[in-house]
Parts: sequence; structure tokens; C-alpha cells
Amino acid sequence: MKHMNRTYEDVSTYEHWTADKFLPGGIVNDPGNSMMYITGGWRSNRPVWNKDNCNDCMLCWVHCPDSAILVENQKMVDIDFEHCKGCGMCAVECRFDAIEMIVEPDSLSAEGGN
Ligand code: SF4
Ligand code: SF4
Repeated sequence: MKHMNRTYEDVSTYEHWTADKFLPGGIVNDPGNSMMYITGGWRSNRPVWNKDNCNDCMLCWVHCPDSAILVENQKMVDIDFEHCKGCGMCAVECRFDAIEMIVEPDSLSAEGGN
């Protein structure tokens, strides 16, 4: 496999980094810490859930890399937009046309700016 021409920082000292050390983009330094960050701000596309088409098959829950599909009593109840990064995996995997991806600003205006 051909490696891209990149340089890598020694992240073991990240607690002492100043702002100039952080490259553009997200950096997760410790495993399992994503719940502590509001990563939904990275999103440029947003999943819109059509509850009427959903049959709670949980395919989206299985495939969501951010655990952003919210489930209660074995039923999908919402999407956690504080953590959903808008990858679109849920929309690809849903077999029932219950999730559509739209551009984030469109969704904000459709939902009254929330
Ligand atoms: S994959 Fe589609 S039908 Fe299945 S739970 Fe998710 S939204 Fe509902
Ligand atoms: S768009 Fe990606 S991160 Fe957001 S709910 Fe769907 S699968 Fe999860």
C-alpha cells in the first residue's frame, strides 16, 4: 500500500500542546472519549428521519459509527445531533427509505433553526 506523504505529530505530549500544534480537523487522543465532545458541529449533511417509514429494524443503529441512533425499548426514537457527524451511513443502510440526507443549512431552516 502506498503511503501518503504526511508527517505525524507525537501525540503523547498533546496535553501540553498550544493551538499552533493542532492540525485542521478532529483529533481523538484517547479511546472512548467521543461522548465528551459535541462532534455534531463537524457535520455538513444531516440525516432526516421519516418515522412513518421506519420499522425499527435497527440497521442504522448497527452501522452508525457515532452511536447517534437513539433507541428506547428496541425502537428507534431519534437521532443524537450532538454527536452525529453526517456520514450518511444510516441512509445508505436503511432499506425502507426512512432516512434521507440533506445539506445541513437546509435542515436548519426546515426545523426552524434548531
Ligand atoms: S434502518 Fe431505517 S427502518 Fe431501520 S431502524 Fe433505521 S431508520 Fe428505521
Ligand atoms: S449520518 Fe452517520 S453519524 Fe449521523 S446518525 Fe447517520 S450513520 Fe450516524
